[in-house]
Amino acid sequence: MIRFENVTKRYRGTKRPALAGVDFEVERGEFVFLVGASGSGKSSCLRLILREDVPTTGRVAVLGRDLRTLANRKVPYFRRHIGSVFQDFRLLSTKTVFQNVAFTLQVTGSSRGFVQQAVPEALALVGLEGKEKRMPHELSGGEQQRVAIARALVNRPQVLLADEPTGNLDPATSVDIMQLLARINAGGTTVLMATHEAAFVDQMRRRVIELRDGEMVRDETHGGYGDRSMIPQLVPEEERGAAATAALTAVQEVQRETESLEPLTAEMLASMKAARDAETPAEPAAPAAPRTHPIVLPEVDVAELGMADRLGLSAADDDDEVGPTS
Ligand code: ADP
Ligand code: MG
Repeated sequence: MIRFENVTKRYRGTKRPALAGVDFEVERGEFVFLVGASGSGKSSCLRLILREDVPTTGRVAVLGRDLRTLANRKVPYFRRHIGSVFQDFRLLSTKTVFQNVAFTLQVTGSSRGFVQQAVPEALALVGLEGKEKRMPHELSGGEQQRVAIARALVNRPQVLLADEPTGNLDPATSVDIMQLLARINAGGTTVLMATHEAAFVDQMRRRVIELRDGEMVRDETHGGYGDRSMIPQLVPEEERGAAATAALTAVQEVQRETESLEPLTAEMLASMKAARDAETPAEPAAPAAPRTHPIVLPEVDVAELGMADRLGLSAADDDDEVGPTS
């Protein structure tokens, strides 16, 4: 689904390459964390996947297309298969929630009828029904990120790229956003998330690819955040217990409010409790399932909303040609 073959990226006027000999493959349906200190090359990787930039040497293939040979005129069509969200949300501040999500569809020529159906469904998927008419500044940070996620999903992408999506959010809100991303992944969308947030990486026990100074130093199927000594601590050691407790409380609140999220919250609760109770990090739980089917979550949530097909969340994949008609 995403393949890096010996990828090196040198930016003009810099001595050291931002990426050096990076080699990995992400399969359909995976949830992958891309971790590493600031400047280690995470965003550069995501930009290469989006074809916002090209490697200096090596090859990047996404959804079966070699991006080196993808014609420039085909890039916009290619990008419709990939949703992306960022730390700073990147909403259009003068447009309503509805207009922000509709915008992508409108610029790609979707019919009015489709927009009227797809936008409310995408907003319902992220839990923002009833907020269509709000302006971005009338929303909390977590809600703004949900709008950005709805916008990323409304085009039915097969892949969702998230570059530090919880970087501007408080711990409780970050838990909500992580749950949402896990649910989206459980519906079949491949998710690649760059993050500093050690707690989530440790709790989720998903695949972890770690970069250090542009080199891949780790690719672990059920990894944790890894060697924290190399990474600036966001939370001082002594406050980790407090942060875990805050996150736990948040999850409990979410659990009370949202019955449909029980399997994930149970999993997260267990690992958070373990992390809080133990001085040393808890041993990774035995992998419950192959990594292409990473977590057990009811898909009814997504299916009931009638979104599975529209958002490309269903199992079937139309690996269609990128072209003016796609
Ligand atoms: P991360 O997202 O992990 O913080 P980046 O991919 O943003 O890392 O950056 C990796 C390295 O490449 C850093 O040293 C950064 O300064 C450098 N870099 C990123 N973008 C550019 C650019 N457009 N021009 C020059 N150097 C860049
Ligand atoms: Mg970055």
